[in-house]
Amino acid sequence: MRFCIETLGCKVNQFESQAVEAALTARGHSVCAPGDGCDACIVNTCSVTAESGRKSRQAVRRLKRMEGGAVIAVCGCYAQLSPGDAASLGADVVMGAGDRMKLVDAIERLCEARRKNPGETGRVIDVGDASSRREFEKLSGGSGGGRTRALLKIQDGCDNHCAYCVIPRARGRGRSLPPDEVGAQAGRLSGAGYREIVITGIEISSYGNDSGGGYSLSDAVRAAAADAPEARLRLGSLWPGAVTREFARALAEIPGLCPHFHLSLQSGCDKTLRRMGRRYAAADAASAVRALRGEFPGCGITADLIAGFPGETDGEFSETLDFIEKCAFSRMHIFPFSARPGTAAAAMPDQQTRDVKRARAAAARALAGCMSREFARSNVGAAADVLFETESGGVSAGYAGNYLRVYAPGGGMRNLTRRVVITRAIGEDAFGVVGG
Ligand code: SF4
Repeated sequence: MRFCIETLGCKVNQFESQAVEAALTARGHSVCAPGDGCDACIVNTCSVTAESGRKSRQAVRRLKRMEGGAVIAVCGCYAQLSPGDAASLGADVVMGAGDRMKLVDAIERLCEARRKNPGETGRVIDVGDASSRREFEKLSGGSGGGRTRALLKIQDGCDNHCAYCVIPRARGRGRSLPPDEVGAQAGRLSGAGYREIVITGIEISSYGNDSGGGYSLSDAVRAAAADAPEARLRLGSLWPGAVTREFARALAEIPGLCPHFHLSLQSGCDKTLRRMGRRYAAADAASAVRALRGEFPGCGITADLIAGFPGETDGEFSETLDFIEKCAFSRMHIFPFSARPGTAAAAMPDQQTRDVKRARAAAARALAGCMSREFARSNVGAAADVLFETESGGVSAGYAGNYLRVYAPGGGMRNLTRRVVITRAIGEDAFGVVGG
């Protein structure tokens, strides 16, 4: 069977698509480009915003047009929340955001039935109840695209209920992969040659909450570091309220952890945070930043921000701008609020106009750009361990541990970590010399 996979959304979806691909190729099937005569086309959908739902539908329609005779399989968060819509797009297999190996079985079965009988029109619509999922689905993903950075999913689901988010409904309660298995997976990825492992999940700060206090996120990171000493570890998004001094200190004792931390901040104003249903205050996020910088001097701290949340006044927004400026984040992802139908936030009064959302996002991006350039300048003269990924025109590029993008003259360094002395900033990135 020849198959293609199209993945939308987050690192967890990417990890799961890699696991589906690995399972299918392990069964002797081969990856094929869309339009090259695929027997099966898989779309791993996303539903984090209305826009990602639209793009998911678009992908299904496009593949159905390109590969009319193929088995079209739709899975992921959009299919989990809107199975009827996914089926009405003409999908043959509709599965949710779990049961990935059942998906592989169903695709194989339908393709085989169609091979034997081209007129076969059977369908499999089997979307489990996300809220009843209690077991973490163990998958061997992570090994996709290049050999530099691998993803390692250690947690699924979410027990928070932020006002703008549908993910808990799509992914169910929080579930964790026990630390010893995190270690084993990290060892597998490092053994396969990956030099960086990104520890990811839906909400990794709640890792271990389902273990009855048996273990926590720092235990998982410690286990990964122990079993993959050759690779460096990078943490996915953190809940600001969970980043305490103790947590930062525990991380600082773990060898090979990249000094880069991403906070899912969303706002720097308490009133807005309360309206969002985010159970921490701006002061908690500020102490998280201080704790991380205290244990990891020179670290990169990046953050997400939603601009133009319903009810956010000009005053609240400028409070947020002041807050992020004080935190001096090294890079930021800024999202204009996008109402997700079915969420509390979508039903809130005082929805902002598109212009206000755009203007606030632009203001935040301008400030974020200044902070990123300042961060790049602050690294001049410093030495950084850069994992090189690309090479062009005799110049190699990669990321330092603190997530600064670094360019250096020289080639043949792909997937190698080299000590680089930063000689100058180039906008939000930097230039340096290997060895220095
Ligand atoms: S933490 Fe909030 S935004 Fe993130 S997945 Fe959970 S409910 Fe959604």
